[in-house]
Amino acid sequence: MLSVQEAIRVICEQTPTLPAEKIPLAEACGRVLAEDVVADSDLPPFDRALMDGYAVRAADTQNAPVRLRVVGEAAAGNGWREALQAGEAVRIMTGAPVPAGADSVQQVEATREHNDGEFVEIERATSRGQFITPRAREITRGSVVLYRGETINAAMMAALASFGFAMVSVGARPRVTVLATGSELVGVEEQPGQDKIRDSNTYSLAAYAELAGAGVHRLPFATDDPALLQRMIQQSVQDTDALVISGGVSMGVYDFTKTALGALDAEIFFERVSLRPGKPTVFARLGRMLVFGLPGNPVSVSVTFNLFARTALRQMQGAQRPALAEEQAVLAREVKGAVERTSYLPAQLRTDEQGRLLAEPLRWGGSSDLAAFARTTALIIVPQGVKMLDAGTVVQTISLPG
Ligand code: AMP
Ligand code: MG
Repeated sequence: MLSVQEAIRVICEQTPTLPAEKIPLAEACGRVLAEDVVADSDLPPFDRALMDGYAVRAADTQNAPVRLRVVGEAAAGNGWREALQAGEAVRIMTGAPVPAGADSVQQVEATREHNDGEFVEIERATSRGQFITPRAREITRGSVVLYRGETINAAMMAALASFGFAMVSVGARPRVTVLATGSELVGVEEQPGQDKIRDSNTYSLAAYAELAGAGVHRLPFATDDPALLQRMIQQSVQDTDALVISGGVSMGVYDFTKTALGALDAEIFFERVSLRPGKPTVFARLGRMLVFGLPGNPVSVSVTFNLFARTALRQMQGAQRPALAEEQAVLAREVKGAVERTSYLPAQLRTDEQGRLLAEPLRWGGSSDLAAFARTTALIIVPQGVKMLDAGTVVQTISLPG
């Protein structure tokens, strides 16, 4: 049986990167950059005042308090074009270019105007460079600010805008089709009859797929009928990059996902992974469509989607590191492992008073416990072969998207 890491490697080997597309900047948050972002200007583009006050020559202020002649004004977007001479000051606003000849700014609080603004008294001496952000202090024209393969977040939007990326080249959105199987399923708007339950997986799967950057199409449920399932899988091929099927991958008499994939001659790369929850995970390809057959229990489906299907969706978009990153944390309470498989246990991460990242395991009733999972923000990884981990142990964790 493959380990989680081996399964992820197989997925990365089999997943193509989709072609890039150019989109308007306003739509780019969450997408994966398909080009390096190069600064087309210095930032700041000129020596910039950091305070409202007066631009002066530091040498003129050394015997402060001193009185200087106010010869002009520099506002943001409207600088003062002449050169400052000895004994002169220019009234300046935050964000305005510092005039030639000036080498410092004194903040307005340390000044006093005289004669209706004709003169200013500088009450304290300035030092050269004071309250000035020099040109190119933050970024030099031509340097790379963001790299291809990085995911654009809200903070990066400002960098893209500043360097004129009105259109951004990003990896195309993978087209995901979600198919829930199970004769027990009814819709969210229905009152479940005898032996039925409401489908919840199509909602969590679609939400996770969207968080991963995909465009999602949801099919109606398939009952546990191999011919129907086969037809629905076949029909998805033409417009789907990744088909995510929930349910029907276990060993039950009515688990037909693998039967249907077999009948369609899909190439099956693996059908079991050494993890809990989520062992019967299937990864296959039909034509150019990747297929993820995920176990139907609500926790299993979410865990396996994020470990496996999400990785493929990120790779399709050209992400540098498509799999969810692992992060070390200190166990707040002891946990038990599944021993024969690697366990992914529902948890929350928090920082303690000493600034350590703590992993707090959550009480849960197993892979169907969607109520406990609703409070889950991270997973604690307990490696195969480990029976128990004590409080205080440093463990690997992954944070779940969303
Ligand atoms: P399966 O993987 O098909 O054997 O399903 C395992 C368990 O998950 C069963 O108890 C199912 O009722 C439940 N389940 C399957 N599909 C869904 C779904 N779409 N929403 C909620 N629970 C489901
Ligand atoms: Mg089922």
